[in-house]
Amino acid sequence: MAYDFETRCIHGKGADGLTEDTCSVSFPIYQTACFSHIKPGHNANGFDYTRESNPTRSKLEEVITALEGAADSVALSSGMAAISVCFELFRPGDHILCAEDLYGGVFRLHKLVNQKNGLEIDYADLRDPAVFEAAIRDNTRAVYLESPTNPMMNITDLRQTAEIAHRHGCLLIVDNTFMSPCFQQPLALGADIVVHSGTKFLGGHNDTSSGFVCARDPDLAAQLRLLSKTIGGVLAPFDCWLVLRGIKTLSVRMERQQANAMAIARWLKEQACVTAVYYPGLPEHPGHDVQSAQASGFGSMISFRVDSAETAVHILEHVRLITFAESLGGTESLLTYPVTQTHLDVPEALRKKLGIDDTLLRMSVGLESAEDLLEDLRQAMDI
Ligand SMILES: *Cc1c(COP(=O)(O)O)cnc(C)c1O
Repeated sequence: MAYDFETRCIHGKGADGLTEDTCSVSFPIYQTACFSHIKPGHNANGFDYTRESNPTRSKLEEVITALEGAADSVALSSGMAAISVCFELFRPGDHILCAEDLYGGVFRLHKLVNQKNGLEIDYADLRDPAVFEAAIRDNTRAVYLESPTNPMMNITDLRQTAEIAHRHGCLLIVDNTFMSPCFQQPLALGADIVVHSGTKFLGGHNDTSSGFVCARDPDLAAQLRLLSKTIGGVLAPFDCWLVLRGIKTLSVRMERQQANAMAIARWLKEQACVTAVYYPGLPEHPGHDVQSAQASGFGSMISFRVDSAETAVHILEHVRLITFAESLGGTESLLTYPVTQTHLDVPEALRKKLGIDDTLLRMSVGLESAEDLLEDLRQAMDI
C-alpha cells in the first residue's frame, strides 16, 4: 500500500526504500567520490562512483520518484541542468514545440546550445488547441511547457495537451516547478517527463541549487539517467541531503505559503496603484477552473502590474522585510523584476506580446506572517 503524500515527503517509499546500515533516522551524507570493489566486476552494494550514483542522491531520487509517481528520477545540480538533459534526448532535425511563456533561461539554452546543435524550436500558445495542432510538424518529437507559467501565471490544460501531443507521437515535457508534486502531478495527467528547479519549492529554503528530471516510462527514465551520468551535472551528496531535508516539510510549507499568497493577492486587488493581479487562486483568473480540475492548489507565486515603471521601481527599492531578489519558492518572501532579472533573455517581441514589461512585478510569498508581509507592501507602496 502506498503511503499518503505527506508520509512520502518524509519516508520516500518507506519500508521498501533505500535503507542504510547504521539505521540513522536522518539519512546520512555519503561524502565520498568512490566506493571500494571486492573483485573485478563486483561491487558490494551497487555503488561505484558518485557521478554515476551515490546513496544520498539515490535516497533523494527515491523520494522524488515517489512524490511524482515516476518510474525513476535523476537529481541534477540545477533546474537548467535537468532541462538540458531533457533536450539531449533529441537529434539534429528534430522539432520541439514549446509554450511561449517560459523561464527566461530556457530561451537562452535553446539559442546557445540546442539550436546550435540542430534542434528546431518553435514557440506557440499551447493553451489554444487549434494553434497548438497547427504548430505540430512531421518532425515534432516533443512538446515542452510550464503550467502555471513563469511569470504570467497562465494555465494550460495538461490532460488535453497530453492527448494532443500523444496523438501526434510527441512526448510531453512539463516543468512542474511552480506547483511541486504537492499540488500537481503531471505524469498522472498524461505527461511523459517532469522537470523541476529543485532550487525553488522542493529545496524550499533559498539555500541550495538543484534540479530533477522524472519520467513515467522506465526506458525513457533509463535514457535520462544515462545522459545525466554522461554529461555529469549531477547533484552533490551534501546538496542532496539539504533537499531531502527541505522536502520533509514540503506539504506544510506549500499549504501555508498558499494561504499567505491568497491573502496578499486579495489585498493587492484593492490597491490604487495595482492595475492587475495574476494569481490562479482568484476566481476571476482565466485559468482558475482548469487549475482547480488538474491541481490540488494554486501555489504561492503572484505576478502583478502597477500603474508605472516608477511605481514598480519604488516598490522594489522600499520593501524591507520582503527581499528584492531573483528566485522563488523558499521560506523568505522575494520580489522579482522579471524584465531585468529572470526574463531578460526572452526575445523582446515575445516579452511585449506576453506582457512582461517594466510595470510587472513577481512575488514569491514565503512563510513570514501574512500581516507582516502586507504591512511591508503597504509601506513600500506609500508613494
Ligand atoms: C528557476 C527556474 C528554472 C531554472 O532552475 P535553476 O535551478 O535556476 O537552474 C526553470 N524553470 C522554472 C519554472 C524556474 O522557476
